[in-house]
Amino acid sequence: MEEKLLLIEEYAKEKKIPIMMKDGIEFLCKYIKEHNIKSILEIGSAIGYSAIKMALVDKDIKVVTIEKDINRYNEAIKNINDFKLVNQIKIINDDALNTEIDGKFDLIFIDASKGNNINFFNKYSKNLSSCGIIVTDNLSFHGLCENEELIKTKNQRGIVKKIKAFIEFLDNNKDFYTEYVEVGDKIAISRKKG
Ligand code: SAH
Ligand code: MG
Repeated sequence: MEEKLLLIEEYAKEKKIPIMMKDGIEFLCKYIKEHNIKSILEIGSAIGYSAIKMALVDKDIKVVTIEKDINRYNEAIKNINDFKLVNQIKIINDDALNTEIDGKFDLIFIDASKGNNINFFNKYSKNLSSCGIIVTDNLSFHGLCENEELIKTKNQRGIVKKIKAFIEFLDNNKDFYTEYVEVGDKIAISRKKG
């Protein structure tokens, strides 16, 4: 099991696929375990790494995960089969901005294109169970959000701007309150107010 996970980590590194950082995914898995989370919706599967890690926390956990890139989707299918997790993980090959998902989830994990975080948050908050949480990854963008002098390209500047707008959106949200955790590339944990 551990060995197979290492192979996926190596594959991701080689192909420059931005899977969750080690401490980030460990934090999330611990949270899932401690809060008895059983249903998860993930936006951005890539090659299935985080979905597999989360599904392995408990055999009663069900994950629905969306990936728009066909090659990553195919690789994810391969990995999910390899871990014999087809009964726990349902992967959808689609653009999450256009997908309609039924049902409610204890955890919605947003880990796709940083510029669309507000859209994903607004679109999928209807799928959150009343005590559920929305976790969003990559709020630091490898330190660039806190250290703007390190920004080198126009593209990076654009992404930093969008992440900052997302943080402002969270901080001013009337329906959710959010705490930030400095693990991995920094994550936000949002809960419904009241
Ligand atoms: N959660 C994964 C990493 C995801 S990387 C892990 O930790 O293992 C982000 C992924 O989101 C990429 O593979 C990208 O193709 C996908 N993505 C970006 N925008 C998307 C969208 N609108 N709909 C679905 N997937 C998207
Ligand atoms: Mg990420």
